[in-house]
Amino acid sequence: MTNDGKGNQLSKEILHLVSYCPLCQAPARPKKIRVLQTKDDNQLIHIDCSLCHSSILALVINSGYGVTSVGLATDLTDEEAMHFQNSPKITTDDVIAIHDLLFNYL
Ligand SMILES: [Zn+2]
Repeated sequence: MTNDGKGNQLSKEILHLVSYCPLCQAPARPKKIRVLQTKDDNQLIHIDCSLCHSSILALVINSGYGVTSVGLATDLTDEEAMHFQNSPKITTDDVIAIHDLLFNYL
């Protein structure tokens, strides 16, 4: 994190995100927090809860008008999230190929 105003604002948002677990609602210290990607002023972070052992993938967005975050529960580890973050996107042709494979297999 930087020490400028934007960096401090992102730090406060991340601290708010990890001040409690949205799944077990416990005010707890996270087991592990990892910043997976930083692009411009936006960060993708992975958080493991030390109590319920759930994981959250959160995108912290600094739009210039304020800081917002979007989080979702995931069963991905931080390493798996990074792997899929850098994987090629699934195309329509990929979905049709899987459909055809399953349709012909069953
Ligand atoms: Zn939890």
